[in-house]
Amino acid sequence: MSTLAPLLEMEGLDAWYGEAKILFGLSLQVAPGEAVALVGRNGAGKSTTLKAIIGLVRRRARRLSFGGTDLIPLPTHAIARLGIGYVPEDRRIFTELTVRENLDLGRRPPRPGAGRAAWTLEAVFELFPQLGDMRERRGGQMSGGEQQMLAVARALIGNPALLLLDEPSEGVAPIVVEQMGRALARLKATGLSLLICEENSDLCAGLCDRVLRIEQGELRGPAPAPPP
Ligand code: ATP
Ligand code: MG
Repeated sequence: MSTLAPLLEMEGLDAWYGEAKILFGLSLQVAPGEAVALVGRNGAGKSTTLKAIIGLVRRRARRLSFGGTDLIPLPTHAIARLGIGYVPEDRRIFTELTVRENLDLGRRPPRPGAGRAAWTLEAVFELFPQLGDMRERRGGQMSGGEQQMLAVARALIGNPALLLLDEPSEGVAPIVVEQMGRALARLKATGLSLLICEENSDLCAGLCDRVLRIEQGELRGPAPAPPP
C-alpha cells in the first residue's frame, strides 16, 4: 500500500435514494497511484458508492474529500473538474458519433497547476490500439467490449487523477479484459488512482493493491484473496 497522503478520503459516508438509506457509514481512502477494488453482491451498494463520491445521490459524511477539497457541497460537474473521472455502468456511448468524436466529447482543458500532462488522442490510441484502428467507426458499430474500452478511454481524456470504474470488464471478452488491465496498469504507473467496482478478479488481479468488500451498504473489511 502507498504511504502517500490519501487523494480520496471518505469517512462515515451515508447515502439515500429518496427515503431509502443505502450506504451506512462507509470509510475508505485511496492514495495517489493506488488501485482499490470494491466488490460485493448485486445490490450491495458498489455503484451507489461511486455515485455518492461524485454527487449523483443524496449523501452525508463526516468527511468526503479529494486532494483536500470537500466534495459534499460541490455539484457533480465541479467534482469532475477537480480531476475525478467516472465510467458508469450505463456507458452512454454516442452510437451515431465516431470513436474519435466520442473521445473528443470527453475532453476537458487541463486543470491549472494540476501538474499532469493532458492526454492527447494519439496517446490514448497508443494505450488502446484497437480504438486507434477504429477511430472513424461509429459507436453503434462497436461490440459491447469495444464500447466499454471507449468509455474508459473517454474518462481518461478528461485528464483525471482518480478514475472511478463501475464494472469496466462486464460483458467484455477475456482478451479485451487483459488489454484493459494492461492499459490500467500503465495508467496506474503514471500515478493515476483507481477505484474499481469489479467482480472479475482477472482484471483486478495484479492491478488492485487492495480489495474491499461491501455488504448491504456496509464495508466488511478486506475480502479474501481470490484463489490462485
Ligand atoms: P450490482 O452488482 O447489481 O451493480 P451494486 O452493488 O452496484 O449492484 P447499487 O446499484 O449500488 O448496487 O444498489 C444498492 C441498492 O440501492 C440496491 O438495493 C438497489 O436496489 C438500490 N438502488 C439502486 N439504484 C436505485 C435508484 N435509482 N432508486 C432506488 N433504489 C436504488
Ligand atoms: Mg452496480
